[in-house]
This record gives sequence, C-alpha cells and structure tokens, in this order.
Amino acid sequence: MTTKTDFYEVLGVPRNASSEEIKKAFRQQALKYHPDRNDDPDASAKFKEAAEAYQILSDTEQRAAYDRFGHAGVKNGAGAQGFSGFEGFGGFGDIFDAFFGGATRTGPRAGRDLEYEVTISFDKAAFGVEERIKLNRVEVCDRCSGTKAEPGTEVMRCSTCGGSGQVRRLQRNIFGQFQQVSTCSTCGGDGRTAETVCKQCRGAGRRRRQRTIAVNIPPGVDNGTRIRIRDEGEAGEPGARSGDLYVYISVEDHEYFRRSGNDLLVGVEVNMAQAALGGTVEIPTLQGTRELKIPEGTQSGRIFRVRGEGIADVQSGRRGDELVEIIVATPTKLSSRQKELLAELKESLGKDGGGEDGIFGKIKDRISGGG
Ligand SMILES: [Zn+2]
Ligand SMILES: [Zn+2]
Repeated sequence: MTTKTDFYEVLGVPRNASSEEIKKAFRQQALKYHPDRNDDPDASAKFKEAAEAYQILSDTEQRAAYDRFGHAGVKNGAGAQGFSGFEGFGGFGDIFDAFFGGATRTGPRAGRDLEYEVTISFDKAAFGVEERIKLNRVEVCDRCSGTKAEPGTEVMRCSTCGGSGQVRRLQRNIFGQFQQVSTCSTCGGDGRTAETVCKQCRGAGRRRRQRTIAVNIPPGVDNGTRIRIRDEGEAGEPGARSGDLYVYISVEDHEYFRRSGNDLLVGVEVNMAQAALGGTVEIPTLQGTRELKIPEGTQSGRIFRVRGEGIADVQSGRRGDELVEIIVATPTKLSSRQKELLAELKESLGKDGGGEDGIFGKIKDRISGGG
C-alpha cells in the first residue's frame, strides 16, 4: 500500500494556511513542476499531486473533511468527483493555461519531431554522403490518406462541433467559471468524421510505420552537426503539420588526418637527409597524394600549409587547407655503409659546432666560459 503525502506538505503550507496562501503555494508548485517547463520525469506526477492537494484544500468543505479524517475523509468525495474540476481539459497544459491565463490549445496537434543519430566515416563527412536511415514513425494512413474514412465512403462534417474542430462550453472548476474552448473529441479537431471509418487506421487517419528514408548529408559536416529535415518527423493529427526530423552527425576518427575547423592536420615523416638537404616529399591528401617541396634545413615540427586541400565548408563549400607537420625521423636500422657515412658526418659536424646555432654548441660555450 502506498502512503499518500499529506496535502499540506505537498503544497508546503502550514495547516492553518489561508486560502490565499494555499493558492499562492499551488501556483509556485505548478510553475515549478509543470511538465512543459520541467523535464524531470517525476515532474508531472508532482504537478498532479499538487493539483490534487490544491483541489481539496481550496474547497472549504473538502478541506474541513480532510482536516478531520485525513485522506480517508476526502477519498470518496475526490474519487467520485475525480478531478472534477479538470474534466474537459486536454491535459496539464490546459489546466496550467486556465490557471495562469494562457490560451487553451485548440485544433489538431502537430506531429512530433524525431531525432536520429548517425555515425559516418571521416571521408564521408568530408565529401558528403546519402545515408539511408530507418525510422519508426507515425505517418498519414495510406489507405484513407488521412481522411479517416474507408475509401469510397463519405467524409462528413463533424456533427459535434459543426466542422469547426472546437467545442465551447461554460465550465465551472476550481479556478472559477469561464468559457472553455477545447478540441472536439469526436473529430480530433479537424472538423471531419467518417461515415465508415477506415479499416486500416480505425479512423485515426494516421498509423505507425517502419520507413527508410534517404538523408542527404552535405560535405563538411563535423561531429555534432545537426541536420534538420522539414516535415520528415511524425505526421500531425489530420489537418496539422508534420514534425521535423533532426539528424545528429557523429564522425569517426581518421587513421592519420585530424580536423581543426575546416583545416586538415597531418604529420609526415621525412628522414634526416631529406630534412637537411630539402627536396620533394609525398604527402597524403583526402583524395590521394601530392608532392610538397620542403626547403633545405627543415626542422622537425615545422608546419607547411597546403592551400585548398582541407575540408569543404558546410555552408559555402570553400575548402580549408591541409597543414602538414614535418617529423624528422631518426633512422633505426642502418647498414654498415650508412653508419660509416653518418660517422663521417658526425665527425664533420662536430668540427664546426653542429651549425651556427646548435644548442649543444651554445651549452658547450657556456660551460667553457664559466670554467
Ligand atoms: Zn486510414
Ligand atoms: Zn468535431
């Protein structure tokens, strides 16, 4: 058995609270827990709880019964009446609007937006791709085309609302008396009813389906890029617009390219001789390879910019650059001839200090200078 929270506790007011205090407390709770404003899954339960507490405590008789007998004192009354004050409301949104003076929602509801996550390779992100994605969504019924009527039978004007899709009635509830306009429950707001309802959707005009759609992913998308595809969400109620589909892109890492904005970063190894003498090295590009000239005496870590070999800007299509970092690799497997040559080179470099600004030369100078 679940124990019900004390209504005063729910609203956070003392037992001798005035009706004004109770109203104020409910207002605060409603603002805090209204499902349209609070994503917490418990919020709607809390909102309902607060509304129930308010319904009882705002009514002098019910409150007196509650004070004397607790939940048992109002259980039957509340049970029989239910949320009598809320009857006819479309949901919390309507209760909220009635209480806070917003407009009551009328007319058929728009379709829900859908979200989909897709992971694509680095190359596909760079060049664009058409991805086929599978959706499970509510669509307009293909048998009746959303008219709700069995093909060949008549679609009639809804007799409940006269085709307006709205019903008006004088409503008295816990917030007072006012004219309430709400969506016609007979036709669901589009003003039409079927003589014979469609067999496939049973008169809903919509049905859930598996659907594969092609999504055009433009060149240049990056991790976290969101693509909005209008009207590819769920179908709305008959007469209302469809939702949109949002595709969130996630891009796999590349084997050797990294991305910085629309520029590509890549490290390219050259050997000591190439770095020292300069020359042409082969570098990878998105589409293959190309040559890059490096000057004599290229240091490890130096970055060369190759224009136009980067990634296309997703808006303008203009391509970024490729930034090539030269990494001078120290040889590990040397033949005896190569060792000989290097030894000779070492000897030669040693004599002239390893270059005009060799760091070891400077350290040596400092040591000898100090000693
Ligand atoms: Zn149908
Ligand atoms: Zn109607």
